[in-house]
Amino acid sequence: MNSEDSLDISQSHITGTMVAYYYICHRKLWLFSKGLNLENVSGNVDVIKGKILHENSFARETNRDIDFDTVKIDFLRFGDQVYVHEVKKSKKFEEAHIWQLKYYIHLLQQKGINCSAGVIHYPSSMRKIDVELKNGDHPLLARALEGIAKITKNPNLPPKKQKKVCSRCAYFDFCYA
Ligand code: SF4
Repeated sequence: MNSEDSLDISQSHITGTMVAYYYICHRKLWLFSKGLNLENVSGNVDVIKGKILHENSFARETNRDIDFDTVKIDFLRFGDQVYVHEVKKSKKFEEAHIWQLKYYIHLLQQKGINCSAGVIHYPSSMRKIDVELKNGDHPLLARALEGIAKITKNPNLPPKKQKKVCSRCAYFDFCYA
């Protein structure tokens, strides 16, 4: 099964952030899809740290901040194929970061670009993870995109997560004020 067989869901409105939020919190995804982007306006310390890290890491990369359809890729490197690179602050949401990057690879493949792998960098902990979009990932990614479409079309705000996992979320004051 190739990616075109298994991924027939419209992705015209799905951003990389939405894919990550799907794995982090459905409520956050829903709020973001309605235009409430508290990562941009909040004084949340983690958000500020993330922005500083993004601006200062890999500053010498020439192919940075690539706008591509609905997503923005941190940087690309070119070798035997195209490699997608993302820079993240902490490994706390590693699974979300991996699927966000796999979504980017999928979008590039849809454009006929030779890309099947990438790297997530965690400069704060001097670690990185190699990511590959494998054949078995396509149905899982399709399910996630379907889930995103369902959540964002639902008129009802999804429930909160347990408070202990929310404390550093940029949406905390919205959910718990
Ligand atoms: S505060 Fe908790 S429930 Fe609210 S959006 Fe953030 S993670 Fe989700």
